[in-house]
Amino acid sequence: MGEKTVPELARDTLKQLVVRKLAPTPANYLAVYSEIGGVKDEPPFPADQLRRIAQDLPAKTPGQQKQRSLFEYAVNQSNWEGVYSALLAYASFMPKAEGSGFGALSTNEVAPLLQVPPSSVAAPALTTDFLEQIARLIEFARPALGTDDARFSEQTQELLRVMRQPGADLVQVKQMLGTFGHRVSFAAEDQAEIKSMLLHLLRLIMENIGELSIDDHWLKGQVEALIGATTPPLTLRRLDDVERRWRDVMQKQAEAKGRAVEAQKEMRLMLGTFIERLSLITDTTSTFGGKMEENARLIEQAGSLEELAPVLKEMVSATRTMAGDTLTARNELRGMRERAEATEAEIIKLHMELDRVSAQARHDPLTGALNRKGLDEAVNREVSNMRRKETPLCMALLDIDNFKKINDTLGHATGDQALAHLAQVARESMRPQDTLARYGGEEFVLMLPDTALDKGIEAMTRLQRELTKRFFLAGTEKVLITFSAGVAQVGPDEEGVAAIKRADQAMYMAKRAGKNRVLGA
Ligand code: GH3
Ligand code: MG
Ligand code: MG
Repeated sequence: MGEKTVPELARDTLKQLVVRKLAPTPANYLAVYSEIGGVKDEPPFPADQLRRIAQDLPAKTPGQQKQRSLFEYAVNQSNWEGVYSALLAYASFMPKAEGSGFGALSTNEVAPLLQVPPSSVAAPALTTDFLEQIARLIEFARPALGTDDARFSEQTQELLRVMRQPGADLVQVKQMLGTFGHRVSFAAEDQAEIKSMLLHLLRLIMENIGELSIDDHWLKGQVEALIGATTPPLTLRRLDDVERRWRDVMQKQAEAKGRAVEAQKEMRLMLGTFIERLSLITDTTSTFGGKMEENARLIEQAGSLEELAPVLKEMVSATRTMAGDTLTARNELRGMRERAEATEAEIIKLHMELDRVSAQARHDPLTGALNRKGLDEAVNREVSNMRRKETPLCMALLDIDNFKKINDTLGHATGDQALAHLAQVARESMRPQDTLARYGGEEFVLMLPDTALDKGIEAMTRLQRELTKRFFLAGTEKVLITFSAGVAQVGPDEEGVAAIKRADQAMYMAKRAGKNRVLGA
Protein backbone atom coordinates (compact mmCIF):
# COMPACT_ATOMS: atom_id res chain seq x y z
CA MET A 1 0.00 0.00 0.00
CA GLY A 2 1.34 3.44 -0.95
CA GLU A 3 1.66 6.49 1.32
CA LYS A 4 -1.57 8.32 2.08
CA THR A 5 -2.04 11.75 0.53
CA VAL A 6 -2.66 14.77 2.79
CA PRO A 7 -6.42 14.99 1.96
CA GLU A 8 -6.76 11.24 2.69
CA LEU A 9 -4.94 11.66 6.02
CA ALA A 10 -7.18 14.62 6.91
CA ARG A 11 -10.33 12.62 6.12
CA ASP A 12 -9.14 9.62 8.18
CA THR A 13 -8.21 11.90 11.06
CA LEU A 14 -11.72 13.39 11.17
CA LYS A 15 -13.20 9.88 11.04
CA GLN A 16 -11.04 8.76 13.97
CA LEU A 17 -12.06 11.80 16.01
CA VAL A 18 -15.69 10.78 15.57
CA VAL A 19 -14.97 7.07 16.29
CA ARG A 20 -13.00 7.89 19.43
CA LYS A 21 -15.54 10.49 20.50
CA LEU A 22 -12.85 13.14 20.82
CA ALA A 23 -13.67 16.85 20.72
CA PRO A 24 -12.50 18.35 17.35
CA THR A 25 -9.89 20.67 18.97
CA PRO A 26 -6.66 21.58 17.10
CA ALA A 27 -4.61 19.65 19.69
CA ASN A 28 -6.68 16.46 19.29
CA TYR A 29 -6.63 16.82 15.52
CA LEU A 30 -2.87 17.18 15.54
CA ALA A 31 -2.36 14.19 17.84
CA VAL A 32 -4.54 11.85 15.72
CA TYR A 33 -3.13 13.18 12.46
CA SER A 34 0.42 12.53 13.71
CA GLU A 35 -0.52 9.02 14.83
CA ILE A 36 -2.14 8.06 11.52
CA GLY A 37 0.51 9.71 9.41
CA GLY A 38 3.34 8.24 11.49
CA VAL A 39 4.60 11.77 12.15
CA LYS A 40 6.42 12.47 15.44
CA ASP A 41 4.09 14.12 17.92
CA GLU A 42 5.99 17.32 18.58
CA PRO A 43 4.45 20.59 19.68
CA PRO A 44 4.66 23.20 16.93
CA PHE A 45 7.75 25.39 16.99
CA PRO A 46 6.65 28.75 18.50
CA ALA A 47 8.63 30.85 16.03
CA ASP A 48 6.46 33.98 16.34
CA GLN A 49 6.59 34.08 20.12
CA LEU A 50 10.35 33.52 20.11
CA ARG A 51 10.84 36.28 17.55
CA ARG A 52 8.98 38.63 19.86
CA ILE A 53 11.32 37.64 22.70
CA ALA A 54 14.30 38.24 20.42
CA GLN A 55 13.02 41.73 19.62
CA ASP A 56 12.77 42.58 23.31
CA LEU A 57 16.19 41.22 24.30
CA PRO A 58 18.57 44.17 25.00
CA ALA A 59 21.71 44.09 22.86
CA LYS A 60 23.98 46.62 24.56
CA THR A 61 27.26 44.75 24.52
CA PRO A 62 28.95 42.97 21.59
CA GLY A 63 28.43 39.67 23.47
CA GLN A 64 24.69 40.29 23.81
CA GLN A 65 24.42 41.36 20.17
CA LYS A 66 26.14 38.22 19.01
CA GLN A 67 24.03 35.89 21.11
CA ARG A 68 20.82 37.64 20.08
CA SER A 69 21.74 37.16 16.40
CA LEU A 70 22.47 33.47 17.07
CA PHE A 71 19.14 33.22 18.88
CA GLU A 72 17.27 34.78 15.90
CA TYR A 73 19.08 32.52 13.47
CA ALA A 74 18.14 29.43 15.49
CA VAL A 75 14.49 30.61 15.61
CA ASN A 76 14.45 31.04 11.83
CA GLN A 77 15.88 27.55 11.48
CA SER A 78 13.32 26.19 13.99
CA ASN A 79 16.33 24.78 15.83
CA TRP A 80 15.53 24.20 19.50
CA GLU A 81 19.04 23.28 20.42
CA GLY A 82 20.33 26.50 18.88
CA VAL A 83 17.68 28.55 20.72
CA TYR A 84 18.60 26.84 23.96
CA SER A 85 22.35 27.37 23.74
CA ALA A 86 22.07 30.97 22.41
CA LEU A 87 19.81 31.94 25.30
CA LEU A 88 22.06 30.28 27.87
CA ALA A 89 25.06 32.10 26.43
CA TYR A 90 23.07 35.34 26.33
CA ALA A 91 22.24 34.95 30.03
CA SER A 92 25.96 34.90 30.87
CA PHE A 93 26.29 38.38 29.33
CA MET A 94 23.62 39.85 31.56
CA PRO A 95 24.90 42.36 34.15
CA LYS A 96 24.46 40.92 37.63
CA ALA A 97 23.20 44.10 39.26
CA GLU A 98 19.95 44.37 37.27
CA GLY A 99 17.07 43.51 39.53
CA SER A 100 14.31 42.72 37.06
CA GLY A 101 13.59 40.70 33.96
CA PHE A 102 16.13 38.20 32.67
CA GLY A 103 18.89 40.21 34.34
CA ALA A 104 17.94 38.73 37.67
CA LEU A 105 17.90 35.16 36.39
CA SER A 106 20.84 32.82 36.59
CA THR A 107 21.73 30.42 33.81
CA ASN A 108 20.14 27.60 35.79
CA GLU A 109 16.92 29.53 36.09
CA VAL A 110 16.66 30.41 32.40
CA ALA A 111 16.95 26.82 31.18
CA PRO A 112 13.69 25.48 32.64
CA LEU A 113 11.82 28.52 31.36
CA LEU A 114 12.61 27.47 27.83
CA GLN A 115 10.89 24.11 28.29
CA VAL A 116 13.23 22.51 25.83
CA PRO A 117 11.69 19.31 24.46
CA PRO A 118 13.37 16.38 26.17
CA SER A 119 14.45 14.90 22.84
CA SER A 120 16.64 17.94 22.12
CA VAL A 121 18.79 17.70 25.26
CA ALA A 122 18.79 13.98 25.57
CA ALA A 123 21.53 12.21 27.43
CA PRO A 124 23.51 11.13 24.32
CA ALA A 125 24.55 14.75 23.87
CA LEU A 126 26.46 14.57 27.12
CA THR A 127 28.57 11.59 26.29
CA THR A 128 32.32 11.42 26.76
CA ASP A 129 32.65 12.40 23.11
CA PHE A 130 30.63 15.51 23.60
CA LEU A 131 32.60 16.49 26.70
CA GLU A 132 35.85 15.91 24.82
CA GLN A 133 34.64 18.18 22.03
CA ILE A 134 33.82 20.95 24.49
CA ALA A 135 37.19 20.44 26.18
CA ARG A 136 38.96 20.83 22.84
CA LEU A 137 36.91 23.92 22.04
CA ILE A 138 38.00 25.44 25.36
CA GLU A 139 41.62 24.59 24.63
CA PHE A 140 41.44 26.21 21.19
CA ALA A 141 39.81 29.33 22.60
CA ARG A 142 42.32 29.70 25.46
CA PRO A 143 45.04 31.71 23.67
CA ALA A 144 42.45 34.25 22.53
CA LEU A 145 41.43 34.92 26.12
CA GLY A 146 44.88 36.02 27.25
CA THR A 147 47.17 34.31 29.73
CA ASP A 148 47.91 37.00 32.28
CA ASP A 149 45.13 36.00 34.66
CA ALA A 150 46.69 33.13 36.60
CA ARG A 151 43.54 32.30 38.53
CA PHE A 152 41.48 31.99 35.37
CA SER A 153 44.16 29.74 33.85
CA GLU A 154 44.05 27.51 36.92
CA GLN A 155 40.26 27.31 36.79
CA THR A 156 40.33 26.42 33.10
CA GLN A 157 42.91 23.72 33.74
CA GLU A 158 40.76 22.27 36.50
CA LEU A 159 37.64 22.34 34.30
CA LEU A 160 39.45 20.45 31.54
CA ARG A 161 40.68 17.89 34.04
CA VAL A 162 37.19 17.29 35.47
CA MET A 163 35.65 17.04 31.98
CA ARG A 164 38.16 14.45 30.88
CA GLN A 165 37.83 12.27 33.95
CA PRO A 166 36.27 8.89 33.16
CA GLY A 167 32.63 9.04 34.31
CA ALA A 168 32.81 12.80 34.83
CA ASP A 169 30.33 14.31 37.27
CA LEU A 170 27.99 16.16 34.89
CA VAL A 171 26.45 18.34 37.57
CA GLN A 172 29.91 19.52 38.59
CA VAL A 173 30.90 20.03 34.94
CA LYS A 174 27.76 22.10 34.35
CA GLN A 175 28.48 24.26 37.37
CA MET A 176 32.11 24.76 36.36
CA LEU A 177 31.11 25.53 32.77
CA GLY A 178 28.75 28.20 34.11
CA THR A 179 31.60 29.87 36.05
CA PHE A 180 33.91 29.48 33.08
CA GLY A 181 31.34 31.14 30.78
CA HIS A 182 31.01 34.01 33.21
CA ARG A 183 34.76 34.62 33.25
CA VAL A 184 35.03 34.14 29.48
CA SER A 185 32.54 36.96 29.02
CA PHE A 186 34.85 39.27 31.02
CA ALA A 187 37.95 38.03 29.23
CA ALA A 188 36.27 38.59 25.87
CA GLU A 189 35.29 42.12 26.92
CA ASP A 190 38.89 42.76 28.02
CA GLN A 191 40.21 41.54 24.67
CA ALA A 192 37.84 43.86 22.81
CA GLU A 193 38.92 46.73 25.05
CA ILE A 194 42.61 45.92 24.45
CA LYS A 195 42.03 46.08 20.73
CA SER A 196 40.30 49.43 20.84
CA MET A 197 42.97 50.83 23.13
CA LEU A 198 45.68 49.64 20.76
CA LEU A 199 44.03 51.49 17.93
CA HIS A 200 43.71 54.53 20.10
CA LEU A 201 47.41 54.34 20.95
CA LEU A 202 48.35 54.05 17.33
CA ARG A 203 46.44 57.21 16.55
CA LEU A 204 48.21 58.98 19.40
CA ILE A 205 51.58 57.88 18.01
CA MET A 206 50.70 59.27 14.61
CA GLU A 207 49.63 62.56 16.16
CA ASN A 208 52.83 62.66 18.15
CA ILE A 209 55.12 61.97 15.22
CA GLY A 210 53.36 64.78 13.38
CA GLU A 211 54.21 67.11 16.25
CA LEU A 212 57.86 66.06 16.30
CA SER A 213 60.17 68.29 14.39
CA ILE A 214 62.89 69.43 16.72
CA ASP A 215 65.15 66.61 17.76
CA ASP A 216 65.18 62.91 16.99
CA HIS A 217 66.67 61.60 20.21
CA TRP A 218 63.53 62.60 22.06
CA LEU A 219 61.91 59.67 20.39
CA LYS A 220 64.20 57.25 22.17
CA GLY A 221 62.56 57.26 25.59
CA GLN A 222 59.10 57.00 24.09
CA VAL A 223 59.91 54.18 21.74
CA GLU A 224 61.59 52.29 24.58
CA ALA A 225 58.50 52.66 26.74
CA LEU A 226 56.30 51.48 23.91
CA ILE A 227 58.45 48.44 23.23
CA GLY A 228 58.46 47.64 26.94
CA ALA A 229 54.70 47.89 27.17
CA THR A 230 53.94 45.88 24.07
CA THR A 231 56.07 42.95 25.21
CA PRO A 232 53.82 40.07 26.29
CA PRO A 233 51.90 39.63 28.45
CA LEU A 234 49.89 42.52 27.06
CA THR A 235 47.53 43.91 29.66
CA LEU A 236 45.12 46.81 29.69
CA ARG A 237 46.96 48.10 32.72
CA ARG A 238 50.27 48.39 30.85
CA LEU A 239 48.72 49.89 27.74
CA ASP A 240 46.99 52.44 29.88
CA ASP A 241 50.33 53.26 31.47
CA VAL A 242 51.96 53.86 28.08
CA GLU A 243 49.11 56.04 26.93
CA ARG A 244 49.49 58.24 29.98
CA ARG A 245 53.27 58.45 29.52
CA TRP A 246 52.84 59.38 25.92
CA ARG A 247 50.45 62.15 26.81
CA ASP A 248 53.02 63.62 29.23
CA VAL A 249 55.68 63.58 26.55
CA MET A 250 53.41 65.16 23.98
CA GLN A 251 52.53 67.96 26.34
CA LYS A 252 56.20 68.61 27.10
CA GLN A 253 57.10 68.50 23.44
CA ALA A 254 54.44 71.04 22.62
CA GLU A 255 55.85 73.29 25.36
CA ALA A 256 59.44 72.84 24.19
CA LYS A 257 58.51 73.43 20.59
CA GLY A 258 56.64 76.61 21.52
CA ARG A 259 59.65 77.83 23.47
CA ALA A 260 62.02 77.00 20.59
CA VAL A 261 59.88 78.94 18.13
CA GLU A 262 59.93 81.88 20.55
CA ALA A 263 63.71 81.61 20.87
CA GLN A 264 64.05 81.65 17.09
CA LYS A 265 62.03 84.85 16.96
CA GLU A 266 64.26 86.40 19.63
CA MET A 267 67.37 85.39 17.68
CA ARG A 268 66.00 86.95 14.50
CA LEU A 269 65.26 90.17 16.37
CA MET A 270 68.78 90.20 17.84
CA LEU A 271 70.31 89.65 14.45
CA GLY A 272 68.33 92.63 13.13
CA THR A 273 69.61 94.84 15.94
CA PHE A 274 73.16 93.60 15.35
CA ILE A 275 73.02 94.59 11.67
CA GLU A 276 71.56 97.97 12.59
CA ARG A 277 74.40 98.56 15.05
CA LEU A 278 77.00 97.55 12.50
CA SER A 279 75.71 100.06 9.98
CA LEU A 280 75.58 102.73 12.68
CA ILE A 281 79.26 102.03 13.46
CA THR A 282 80.07 102.28 9.75
CA ASP A 283 78.13 105.57 9.53
CA THR A 284 79.86 106.96 12.61
CA THR A 285 83.26 105.88 11.25
CA SER A 286 82.71 107.44 7.81
CA THR A 287 81.35 110.68 9.34
CA PHE A 288 84.39 110.72 11.61
CA GLY A 289 86.69 110.04 8.62
CA GLY A 290 85.09 112.93 6.66
CA LYS A 291 85.41 115.24 9.62
CA MET A 292 89.06 114.28 10.11
CA GLU A 293 89.87 114.90 6.43
CA GLU A 294 88.19 118.31 6.62
CA ASN A 295 90.11 119.12 9.82
CA ALA A 296 93.42 118.01 8.24
CA ARG A 297 92.79 120.42 5.33
CA LEU A 298 91.99 123.26 7.76
CA ILE A 299 95.18 122.52 9.73
CA GLU A 300 97.26 122.73 6.51
CA GLN A 301 95.69 126.06 5.63
CA ALA A 302 95.92 127.56 9.15
CA GLY A 303 98.25 130.50 9.46
CA SER A 304 98.07 130.98 13.25
CA LEU A 305 97.50 129.18 16.53
CA GLU A 306 94.16 131.01 16.98
CA GLU A 307 92.93 129.51 13.75
CA LEU A 308 94.02 125.99 14.93
CA ALA A 309 92.16 126.14 18.29
CA PRO A 310 88.55 125.65 16.94
CA VAL A 311 89.80 122.90 14.60
CA LEU A 312 91.35 120.96 17.50
CA LYS A 313 88.17 121.46 19.54
CA GLU A 314 86.12 120.00 16.65
CA MET A 315 88.53 117.04 16.39
CA VAL A 316 88.27 116.23 20.11
CA SER A 317 84.48 116.39 19.98
CA ALA A 318 84.28 114.15 16.84
CA THR A 319 86.64 111.60 18.43
CA ARG A 320 84.61 111.59 21.66
CA THR A 321 81.33 111.04 19.75
CA MET A 322 82.83 108.16 17.80
CA ALA A 323 84.29 106.52 20.92
CA GLY A 324 80.92 106.87 22.69
CA ASP A 325 78.99 105.32 19.78
CA THR A 326 81.45 102.45 19.57
CA LEU A 327 81.16 101.76 23.31
CA THR A 328 77.33 101.77 23.14
CA ALA A 329 77.40 99.38 20.20
CA ARG A 330 79.88 97.11 21.97
CA ASN A 331 77.75 96.99 25.14
CA GLU A 332 74.63 96.28 23.15
CA LEU A 333 76.38 93.48 21.27
CA ARG A 334 77.65 91.98 24.52
CA GLY A 335 74.12 92.10 25.97
CA MET A 336 72.79 90.38 22.87
CA ARG A 337 75.39 87.63 23.12
CA GLU A 338 74.50 87.01 26.76
CA ARG A 339 70.80 86.81 25.92
CA ALA A 340 71.51 84.39 23.07
CA GLU A 341 73.57 82.19 25.41
CA ALA A 342 70.83 82.22 28.06
CA THR A 343 68.21 81.22 25.49
CA GLU A 344 70.39 78.40 24.26
CA ALA A 345 70.95 77.15 27.83
CA GLU A 346 67.21 77.26 28.44
CA ILE A 347 66.53 75.18 25.35
CA ILE A 348 69.14 72.62 26.40
CA LYS A 349 67.49 72.43 29.82
CA LEU A 350 64.10 71.90 28.21
CA HIS A 351 65.53 69.08 26.08
CA MET A 352 67.01 67.40 29.13
CA GLU A 353 63.76 67.71 31.02
CA LEU A 354 61.93 66.26 28.08
CA ASP A 355 64.20 63.22 28.09
CA ARG A 356 63.60 62.76 31.78
CA VAL A 357 59.85 63.13 31.45
CA SER A 358 59.83 60.74 28.55
CA ALA A 359 61.41 58.00 30.61
CA GLN A 360 60.18 58.73 34.10
CA ALA A 361 56.89 60.62 34.10
CA ARG A 362 55.20 58.03 36.23
CA HIS A 363 58.17 56.06 37.43
CA ASP A 364 60.67 56.51 40.17
CA PRO A 365 64.09 56.76 38.47
CA LEU A 366 65.99 54.92 41.22
CA THR A 367 63.86 51.79 41.52
CA GLY A 368 61.82 51.81 38.30
CA ALA A 369 58.68 51.37 40.44
CA LEU A 370 55.70 53.68 39.90
CA ASN A 371 55.99 57.02 41.65
CA ARG A 372 53.16 58.60 43.65
CA LYS A 373 51.51 60.04 40.57
CA GLY A 374 51.70 56.68 38.82
CA LEU A 375 50.38 54.97 41.95
CA ASP A 376 47.36 57.30 42.21
CA GLU A 377 46.33 56.45 38.67
CA ALA A 378 46.97 52.73 39.12
CA VAL A 379 44.90 52.71 42.34
CA ASN A 380 41.91 54.24 40.53
CA ARG A 381 42.23 51.75 37.70
CA GLU A 382 42.54 48.69 39.96
CA VAL A 383 39.71 49.73 42.26
CA SER A 384 37.34 50.23 39.34
CA ASN A 385 38.45 46.89 37.86
CA MET A 386 37.76 45.28 41.22
CA ARG A 387 34.22 46.69 41.27
CA ARG A 388 33.54 45.76 37.66
CA LYS A 389 34.80 42.20 37.94
CA GLU A 390 33.70 41.66 41.54
CA THR A 391 37.09 40.22 42.43
CA PRO A 392 39.11 40.94 45.59
CA LEU A 393 41.95 43.48 45.61
CA CYS A 394 44.70 43.80 48.23
CA MET A 395 46.91 46.77 49.07
CA ALA A 396 50.16 46.02 50.88
CA LEU A 397 52.51 48.62 52.35
CA LEU A 398 56.05 47.72 53.34
CA ASP A 399 58.70 49.74 55.16
CA ILE A 400 62.29 48.54 55.31
CA ASP A 401 63.50 47.73 58.82
CA ASN A 402 66.34 49.82 60.28
CA PHE A 403 67.12 51.42 56.95
CA LYS A 404 68.82 54.34 58.65
CA LYS A 405 71.43 51.88 59.91
CA ILE A 406 72.20 50.74 56.35
CA ASN A 407 72.66 54.36 55.31
CA ASP A 408 74.77 55.16 58.37
CA THR A 409 77.08 52.16 58.12
CA LEU A 410 77.36 51.72 54.36
CA GLY A 411 76.65 55.21 53.03
CA HIS A 412 73.70 56.80 51.26
CA ALA A 413 74.71 55.56 47.79
CA THR A 414 74.72 51.94 49.01
CA GLY A 415 71.36 52.64 50.68
CA ASP A 416 70.08 53.66 47.24
CA GLN A 417 71.34 50.40 45.74
CA ALA A 418 69.60 48.47 48.52
CA LEU A 419 66.31 50.15 47.56
CA ALA A 420 66.80 49.22 43.91
CA HIS A 421 67.61 45.63 44.96
CA LEU A 422 64.42 45.31 47.00
CA ALA A 423 62.35 46.66 44.10
CA GLN A 424 64.01 44.20 41.72
CA VAL A 425 63.34 41.19 43.98
CA ALA A 426 59.75 42.34 44.55
CA ARG A 427 59.12 42.70 40.81
CA GLU A 428 60.54 39.28 40.09
CA SER A 429 58.50 37.53 42.75
CA MET A 430 55.24 39.27 41.81
CA ARG A 431 52.73 38.22 39.14
CA PRO A 432 52.59 40.32 35.96
CA GLN A 433 49.26 41.83 36.99
CA ASP A 434 50.62 43.09 40.33
CA THR A 435 51.85 46.67 40.66
CA LEU A 436 54.81 47.99 42.62
CA ALA A 437 55.04 51.66 43.60
CA ARG A 438 57.48 53.66 45.70
CA TYR A 439 55.32 55.26 48.34
CA GLY A 440 58.00 57.25 50.15
CA GLY A 441 61.72 57.03 50.97
CA GLU A 442 62.01 53.34 51.88
CA GLU A 443 58.32 52.49 51.73
CA PHE A 444 56.66 50.61 48.90
CA VAL A 445 53.06 49.82 48.02
CA LEU A 446 52.13 46.59 46.27
CA MET A 447 48.76 46.29 44.60
CA LEU A 448 47.55 42.73 44.22
CA PRO A 449 44.44 42.24 42.07
CA ASP A 450 42.33 39.05 42.27
CA THR A 451 43.78 38.52 45.74
CA ALA A 452 41.90 38.09 49.01
CA LEU A 453 43.43 39.12 52.34
CA ASP A 454 44.89 35.70 53.31
CA LYS A 455 46.50 35.32 49.87
CA GLY A 456 47.84 38.90 50.08
CA ILE A 457 49.51 38.14 53.42
CA GLU A 458 50.93 34.96 51.89
CA ALA A 459 52.33 36.93 48.93
CA MET A 460 54.12 39.38 51.24
CA THR A 461 55.48 36.57 53.38
CA ARG A 462 56.78 34.94 50.20
CA LEU A 463 58.57 38.20 49.34
CA GLN A 464 60.15 38.21 52.82
CA ARG A 465 61.44 34.68 52.25
CA GLU A 466 62.72 35.63 48.80
CA LEU A 467 64.74 38.49 50.33
CA THR A 468 66.39 36.14 52.81
CA LYS A 469 67.47 33.98 49.85
CA ARG A 470 68.66 36.83 47.69
CA PHE A 471 71.04 38.89 49.81
CA PHE A 472 71.85 42.42 48.88
CA LEU A 473 75.56 42.65 48.06
CA ALA A 474 77.28 45.83 49.24
CA GLY A 475 80.59 45.22 47.51
CA THR A 476 81.46 41.81 48.89
CA GLU A 477 79.45 42.18 52.07
CA LYS A 478 76.14 40.28 52.24
CA VAL A 479 73.41 42.47 53.73
CA LEU A 480 70.08 41.02 54.80
CA ILE A 481 67.20 43.41 54.09
CA THR A 482 64.03 42.81 56.08
CA PHE A 483 60.79 44.73 56.08
CA SER A 484 57.57 45.10 58.05
CA ALA A 485 54.34 45.14 56.10
CA GLY A 486 50.61 45.66 56.48
CA VAL A 487 48.05 44.18 54.09
CA ALA A 488 44.48 45.41 53.59
CA GLN A 489 41.79 44.06 51.30
CA VAL A 490 39.87 46.93 49.72
CA GLY A 491 36.27 46.95 50.98
CA PRO A 492 33.37 46.97 48.48
CA ASP A 493 32.72 50.69 49.00
CA GLU A 494 36.15 51.69 50.22
CA GLU A 495 38.46 54.17 48.49
CA GLY A 496 41.84 52.76 47.44
CA VAL A 497 43.69 55.39 49.50
CA ALA A 498 41.69 54.46 52.59
CA ALA A 499 42.79 50.84 52.19
CA ILE A 500 46.43 51.95 51.85
CA LYS A 501 46.00 53.92 55.07
CA ARG A 502 44.74 50.78 56.83
CA ALA A 503 47.70 48.84 55.43
CA ASP A 504 49.98 51.60 56.78
CA GLN A 505 48.46 51.24 60.25
CA ALA A 506 48.93 47.47 60.13
CA MET A 507 52.55 48.03 59.06
CA TYR A 508 53.03 50.29 62.06
CA MET A 509 51.64 47.55 64.32
CA ALA A 510 54.09 45.11 62.69
CA LYS A 511 56.96 47.48 63.58
CA ARG A 512 55.73 47.71 67.16
CA ALA A 513 55.40 43.96 67.39
CA GLY A 514 59.14 43.58 66.69
CA LYS A 515 59.59 44.26 62.91
CA ASN A 516 60.29 41.72 60.13
CA ARG A 517 56.66 40.56 59.98
CA VAL A 518 53.47 40.91 57.94
CA LEU A 519 50.14 41.80 59.52
CA GLY A 520 46.67 41.94 57.98
CA ALA A 521 44.54 45.06 58.53
P1 GH3 B 1 62.23 51.41 61.03
O1 GH3 B 1 62.58 49.99 61.10
O2 GH3 B 1 61.52 51.89 62.25
O3 GH3 B 1 61.50 51.75 59.78
O4 GH3 B 1 63.62 52.17 61.01
P2 GH3 B 1 64.25 53.03 59.88
O5 GH3 B 1 65.69 53.22 60.16
O6 GH3 B 1 63.94 52.45 58.56
O7 GH3 B 1 63.51 54.39 60.17
P3 GH3 B 1 62.82 55.42 59.24
O8 GH3 B 1 61.76 54.78 58.45
O9 GH3 B 1 62.41 56.54 60.12
O10 GH3 B 1 64.02 55.96 58.35
C1 GH3 B 1 64.01 55.91 57.01
C2 GH3 B 1 65.33 56.38 56.49
O11 GH3 B 1 65.42 56.15 55.10
C3 GH3 B 1 65.55 57.85 56.70
C4 GH3 B 1 66.11 58.35 55.40
O12 GH3 B 1 67.35 58.96 55.56
C5 GH3 B 1 66.28 57.13 54.55
N1 GH3 B 1 65.92 57.35 53.16
C6 GH3 B 1 64.77 57.85 52.69
N2 GH3 B 1 64.80 57.92 51.34
C7 GH3 B 1 66.03 57.47 50.94
C8 GH3 B 1 66.67 57.30 49.68
O13 GH3 B 1 66.12 57.59 48.62
N3 GH3 B 1 67.91 56.78 49.69
C9 GH3 B 1 68.55 56.44 50.84
N4 GH3 B 1 69.78 55.94 50.76
N5 GH3 B 1 67.98 56.63 52.05
C10 GH3 B 1 66.74 57.11 52.11
MG1 MG C 1 59.85 54.79 56.83
MG1 MG D 1 62.04 52.05 57.85
